[in-house]
Amino acid sequence: MHARGLTYETIRLAAQAVGMDDVGIVTAQRWDSDALFMDEWVAQGLHGNMSYFERNQAKRYDIRELVPEAKTVVVTLLTYGHSGHDYHRTLKSLLYQMKQQILDLWQPLDSGEIFSTDHQHVFCDSAPVLERRMAVAAGLGFIGRNHQLIHPRLGSRVHIGELVLQTEVENAPQPAPVADGCGGCRRCIDACPGQALGRDEWDARRCVAYVTHKCEICQQVCPYNEKLI
Ligand code: SF4
Ligand code: SF4
Repeated sequence: MHARGLTYETIRLAAQAVGMDDVGIVTAQRWDSDALFMDEWVAQGLHGNMSYFERNQAKRYDIRELVPEAKTVVVTLLTYGHSGHDYHRTLKSLLYQMKQQILDLWQPLDSGEIFSTDHQHVFCDSAPVLERRMAVAAGLGFIGRNHQLIHPRLGSRVHIGELVLQTEVENAPQPAPVADGCGGCRRCIDACPGQALGRDEWDARRCVAYVTHKCEICQQVCPYNEKLI
């Protein structure tokens, strides 16, 4: 086993080096309250035709069902402006570059010490992973009424990526939760053309973006994106 532990500082430097806009870490675990909430959401049919929400629940609620050796999830944020049109490809590429940066900075004896050998260690919107929940737990923001992760400085136009480590991180800072920042605002609820947003829920069946992929009004009107707050 490697003599030195992997530190949060190494991860932060690696994220910075490849151009991620922010990074946090969270212990791999099962998210019981999200499991309850999502099971109920699906039971009510609010997921519409997104039948993939009816599958892979065990993997979605606990990343260790996907990557059995997972100990830590590094959660990265990349703003839309930095990601270009094919954000999947850009973000995945950056995550792989970040993996290499971590290996270069830390120089473990064997990369298998920290990364799963079956290449299941990079995710972005492509696997049944509770991305927003983990981003919140990593101290990267809160879930707004527009159903998006809202980062206090970057707003909600961010793509979330995950790098899964099979090691714990030394001296990991305890992420300070970001307080719900919606307050009395309901701009997104009022502006949504499909009335898809409630105070605490999102009805996918009414969401224009889910049907046409051409709506982001609830992000456009959000003061966090206008930098008004
Ligand atoms: S993307 Fe458009 S339709 Fe969907 S919740 Fe936001 S404002 Fe409403
Ligand atoms: S528009 Fe207002 S209510 Fe909606 S997510 Fe942004 S701050 Fe929250």
